[in-house]
Amino acid sequence: MNIILLGPPGSGKGTQAKLIEERCGIPQISTGDMLRKAVENKTELGIKAKNYMDSGALVPDELVIMITEERLKAEDCRDGFILDGFPRTVTQAEALDEVLNKMNKKIDNALNIEVKEDDIIRRMSGRRICKGCGASYHIIFNPPNEENICDLCGGELYQRDDDKEETVRNRLKVYKDQTEPLINYYREKSVLRSIDGGRKIEEINQLIEEILT
Ligand code: AMP
Repeated sequence: MNIILLGPPGSGKGTQAKLIEERCGIPQISTGDMLRKAVENKTELGIKAKNYMDSGALVPDELVIMITEERLKAEDCRDGFILDGFPRTVTQAEALDEVLNKMNKKIDNALNIEVKEDDIIRRMSGRRICKGCGASYHIIFNPPNEENICDLCGGELYQRDDDKEETVRNRLKVYKDQTEPLINYYREKSVLRSIDGGRKIEEINQLIEEILT
């Protein structure tokens, strides 16, 4: 089962991707996580990507296409994968089709999580991420049992630099201009399923499960 999660930043793609990963045993592929790791490790890719990410802009297509293509070839993607945060431009979507074509694969479901702009800003300013395992929390809507400590691995929680309000607004603009056209792209391929992302995490997950079974 090959899945794409679409939706604006802060729509809960990462949270849902992790739940699908647990249930279906197929890996979450988050280009954002891969890029953050590269920045942290100061690799060549990380050095190239950092400034774009800090400002909320997209990292150039050729870089993200390269790392995603590489990742999709890994053994654990054999039975499926969940792309979280890729593709984000039509160029990336076309490149993905080409890569999958060569592997005799295709996208089965593009799940579009819809959330209103005001809600996104509220959500993202309260978002906290685990330094250890990448799990995502919200200080009001989904707080950890112990303040600033991950329930899953005990890691420390932090706020991403690009979750600050001004950068969030820029990321939303980038989403509207460059990523939203993908909704039509996948609708035309008859794989688009839209989901009300304003609901609770468990309810959204339930809707997704119904679509995938
Ligand atoms: P995310 O964690 O998915 O919100 O991604 C964080 C940041 O990483 C984005 O704001 C972009 O700067 C960069 N990024 C992640 N995925 C992509 C992508 N598919 N194309 C371009 N930039 C990306």
